[in-house]
Order: sequence, then structure tokens, then C-alpha cells
Amino acid sequence: MSPAHVGAATHCPYCALQCGMYVTREPGAGDGAVTVTPRQDVPANEGALCQKGWTAAELLTGGARLTTPLARERRDGPLVPVTWDDALDRVAAGVRAIQERHGADAVAVFGGGGLTNEKAYQLGKFARVALRTSQIDYNGRFCMSSAAAAAGRAFGMDRGLPFPITDLAGAEAVLLAGGNVAETMPPFMRHLRGALIVADPRETRTARRAALHLRLAPGTDLALALGLLHIAITEGYADEPYIAARTTGFEAVRASVATWWPERAERVTGVPVADLREAVRLLGTARTAVILTGRGAEQHAKGVDTVTAFIDLALALGLPGRAGSGYGCLTGQGNGQGGREHGQKADQLPGYRRIDDQAARAHVARVWGVDPAELPGPGRSAYELLDALGTPGGPKGLLVFGSNPVVSAPRSGHVAGRLAALDLLVVSDLVLSETAAMADVVLPTTQWAEEHGTMTNLEGRVLLRRQALAPPPGVRGDLEILADLAARLGRPGFSGDAGVVFDELRRASAGGIADYAGITYERIAAETGVFWPAPSEDHPGTPRPFLDRFPTPDGRARFVPVDYRPPAEEVDDDYPYYLTTGRVLAQYQSGAQTRRIHALNDAAPGPYAELHPGLAARLGVSTGDMVRVESRRGATEAVARVSAAIRHDTIFMPFHWEGVNRLTNPALDPVSRMPEFKVCAVRVRRPDAP
Ligand code: SF4
Repeated sequence: MSPAHVGAATHCPYCALQCGMYVTREPGAGDGAVTVTPRQDVPANEGALCQKGWTAAELLTGGARLTTPLARERRDGPLVPVTWDDALDRVAAGVRAIQERHGADAVAVFGGGGLTNEKAYQLGKFARVALRTSQIDYNGRFCMSSAAAAAGRAFGMDRGLPFPITDLAGAEAVLLAGGNVAETMPPFMRHLRGALIVADPRETRTARRAALHLRLAPGTDLALALGLLHIAITEGYADEPYIAARTTGFEAVRASVATWWPERAERVTGVPVADLREAVRLLGTARTAVILTGRGAEQHAKGVDTVTAFIDLALALGLPGRAGSGYGCLTGQGNGQGGREHGQKADQLPGYRRIDDQAARAHVARVWGVDPAELPGPGRSAYELLDALGTPGGPKGLLVFGSNPVVSAPRSGHVAGRLAALDLLVVSDLVLSETAAMADVVLPTTQWAEEHGTMTNLEGRVLLRRQALAPPPGVRGDLEILADLAARLGRPGFSGDAGVVFDELRRASAGGIADYAGITYERIAAETGVFWPAPSEDHPGTPRPFLDRFPTPDGRARFVPVDYRPPAEEVDDDYPYYLTTGRVLAQYQSGAQTRRIHALNDAAPGPYAELHPGLAARLGVSTGDMVRVESRRGATEAVARVSAAIRHDTIFMPFHWEGVNRLTNPALDPVSRMPEFKVCAVRVRRPDAP
């Protein structure tokens, strides 16, 4: 800790950069005097914060905070304060009644990518051991699952950046496909110093700072990657010695992209051939280069194949596993990386193990003190789980921790209807989010600077979240809540202490892909983070896991041939425009936290629809007018923002407010079960027009 600071050295509550910050309360200065200042010692931000980080203290002291459990006396009655015993008794009784009537799988759990590693781990264990349900998944399915599946398939391991973030500064060229980091995580930009190529349908803040902007049509990222790969191979940029020494499967990929000549890629994507060639030239002639994907390329019904094609391009250029070069994905949520490693996914056990792997089941069951045969198998993926709620054969009860699906799920109007059909909805949150407002029982929980725990940032660096302040009276931590509930359900032995849970997580992860066995709180503090895998306490951690070999059976990365397919929903006469969604600087995810911070609300007060001037002229609208946007799934109204930054055929809407995701398409990727958030067909009109 800097001698200038007396506060706790911790990390931002929001995104996956996990910027280091001090949180300080002046002694005797009252509740409002909490300050946030940036840390210099954390490589991700090196003393920088964005607006969200600078204003995060208001989350701790603002009036929007829940400080007492709430429950309804009857389904259509108001939420009223109750005691903790009453609230937890209601949850336990409701769970028991549903499971006795409908079976164990009739109660489901929905987690979040912002939960600490300890909470993500304990939630998975709670579902499988205390509830004995297979029905658990989390909102990271909406965020990271396509890149995770593609990286696992190619490299045998999914770690967002398989190199320290500081390596990026040495990359002479960077292709960023579908990421707007200048807005979503501004301190990240300081690490991009080479020629930047941005692939995005919009001229975003990031695209404006790029050497080259590939302004592709929404939903055509896969065609773009295939076209770039074709050029790389046919125009002499393929790194043949690297391909021979470190990969398998190249010939199949060479054959599969043979017909993706540049003119075809231009016709599908709208990106001029000259720009495609220039992008490959920049990447192919750089001594060091990196390809990064973000949600723009990943949140599609073909997201896994799209990321695979970008990985194939990186492998053809000889980038992954080479010092200063590589492929990485930009994890979004605060613990988007750790959140997908410890068992809150439908198909997964701790250590990034598959739940259908018998050896993994035996190992984890041993740590949990249960019979492996007692562990449920895989459950439904996030959207499929939400879609099944309250249906015959679907869950009748749902426990939500750290998520707000009423705002963040695709086809959210339908999802809200499914939540309303439940017999029991329980939400643990720090504010009354849109989802909490629908609950039968609301449990007020602690937040970032009020708790200990670990977060794993987008580099795979495990970080320490230190408690800076005592939580307000009446609030409990999620670990304590899970321990209390488990005991009420006849499964004692769940600890509410983060350190105890982390030690158990280390044992459960030992030998897995994400091996935390050698990581301790003391080490993290002493080393300002430890990169997994770290299988023993004397292991240095693994900042660059692919340098010598890939963690595949033969040590080689795998090329995988993939085919193009169009968006699940194309534009037509009835719905003639593409809708694409994304984030703005001053808001974060579903906005449950940031919409309650005054300065952020002033900067970004509500939803808007960005329209091309040509479309605006046809509609007769100007910036500031209201427009109504409709898809086959729902409608919403927003303020028009007329801008030449958007394509003439596309509308952009940020998704931080309820209503926008009523429009989006839940068509799922067949492998990752990622919904197609990033493109659907819509029509738009003035609200008063017929
Ligand atoms: Fe850093 Fe992200 Fe927090 Fe902004 S929101 S301060 S970029 S961690």
C-alpha cells in the first residue's frame, strides 16, 4: 500500500479489467466520506480509472441500498420488510415444498459473472449438494461462452488473455474484432500502442482511434475472418514453419477458406477489398501482432465458429504462443474469467472441469464429502433455463444471485413472463433491481468493498478483493446466506467465511485446467496477483501458458475449419433494419448499480437509438425525438440520436435499460448456447406514426 493511503487496496466493482483502487473512509467523517483513488501498482490500470471507477464510492453510501430482507405476504402484494430468520425460513420452506412435489430439478439457481470466485464456487456446490439440482447456470453464458468454447477447442484452455496485459504494448499491430474498449474499459487503451485495426459496424470511440476501421455489416464477422484468412494464406503471410511445428489441421482450413476470395468477403461484409488486404498486411508484416475478440464478434448464434475463424487466422499468422503476440478474448464482467471456472455453469465442476467427466466427478465429490453418484449431471443453459421457468417439466423455483435477467436476458419481455410464472423467486442483490422487484423474497447482500474474496481478471490473474468498510447493519454476504440456507435444507457444513471457502476451492480445482491449488491470499497480496494455473505454492504461476506447448494432448494448437452462415434473423420488408446493441462509457451491464449513481446517470440518463441521418430523414426525426423500435419479439421506445457513425442499414441501442433486450433474438449457438444479442431485424417509426 502506498504510504499516502490508509484505505484498503482493492479493485473496481465493475468490469474485467479489475482496475486497482484504494477505498478510504476518513475516520469519524460520517457515512458519506468514502473516497476512491487509483492504485499505481496494478498493471491493468497503472493509476487510471474510468468514470465508473471514480464514482464507485456512491455505491457504498448512496440511498438506493437494500438493508433489510423483503418478502410478500401474498403473490400480488407488496414487498415488505421481514427479519432474516423469516426470510430464510420462507426460502427453505418454499424450496422444500417445490422439490417434494416436483423433484430436485424443480428448483434452479442463476448466478453471475460479477460474483467472487468464492461465491461462484459455493453457488455451484450449493446447487449440486444442498439443492441436489442440475439446474444451475449464470449470466456469463450471455457474455463469454462462445470465446471460451472456441479457445478450449483450439488451445485446450480458455484463459481470456493468455499473456499479461502489458505484453500488448509491444504488439506492432492489433486486430480488435467487436470490442469498444475506449468506452467499455478506457484504461485498456493505454496498452494498445501498435497499429490498431478495429472491426465494428459502428464508428465507435475505439474505431475513431484506429489506423484502419473495418465497418462490416452486423452478423458478418465470420465472413470477415474467413476473408482475412483467405488473404493471409493466398498472399504469402502464413507462417509455414510455425504451422508445421506447433499446430494440426491446417490443410483442412486451407481448403475450407479457398472460396473466400476477397471479393466474396467484400460482398458479404461490405468491407472493401483494399481494406481487407491492408488489415492482413498490417498483421502479417508486424514482428509482433495480437488478435482480440469482444462481444461484437462473439454474441451470435455462430459465435463459436466466428471466434474459431479468428483463432485460425491467428494460428496461420503464427501468433499464439509466441512472445509479444497471440490471440485473446476481452472478458467483460468483473469476474467473467473466474466466474466460468468454479462450477456455476450448467455443464461444469470446479477447476474448469466437465461435469460429465467421471474422474472430475470423483475428485470434486471427494472434496465435497459426497458420493459421486449423488452429483447431478448437466443442466439447461442460461436462456433455456429462463425459458423453461414455470412450464410443465421446468423449474418452479429460482434463486438468483448477482444477476438481473429482466434487463439483461434476450427476449426479456418473455423472460419476465416466465419469472412471473414461478411459484418462488428469490433474489440476492444489493439494490432492488428489476428482477428483485419481481421476487417473493429479496435478500440484501454485501458488495465489493465490504467483503473479502478473490476475482480473476481478463488476464487470468487472481486478485484480492479486500474489505474496506463494514457492511451496513442488516446486510449479509452471499456466502453467509448460502451457509444459512444449506443448514436449513439439512446440509450443514457450508462455510460463510471467504478464506475457508477459498481453501476448499483450491483443493477442488487442484489438477484441473484452472488450477488454483498454489494460490493463497498471502501470495496474491505479496505478488499483486497470481496467474493460474499455479498447482503448488512454490509454483510461480503461469503468465504465458502457451509459450512452449499448448495444453492439448499432443501439445499443438488445433486449426478447425468452419463455414459461414448468415444471421439467424435476416432483414426483410417487414423488419428492414439490423439492430445491434452494446455499452456506453457511463453505464455498466444491466445498469442495476450504475443507474443509481448520480454522476453516471447525468452522463447517460436513458436509452437511445442511434440512427443514420438518411434513415432519420426518411422517418422525419431529429436527435432528441422519440422513436419506437420493434422486432418480432417486442417493442421499446427511446430517444433518437442521429449520427453518421452508424451504418445506413443499422440501429444501435445500448442495453443498460429495461426494454432494449425485449427486441433481441434468443437464437442460440449450437455449442456455447450463446444467444444472438448482436444482430436481429427491426423496424423503426415515430411513436405517433401509424
Ligand atoms: Fe477500470 Fe473497468 Fe472499473 Fe472502469 S469499470 S475503472 S475500466 S475496472
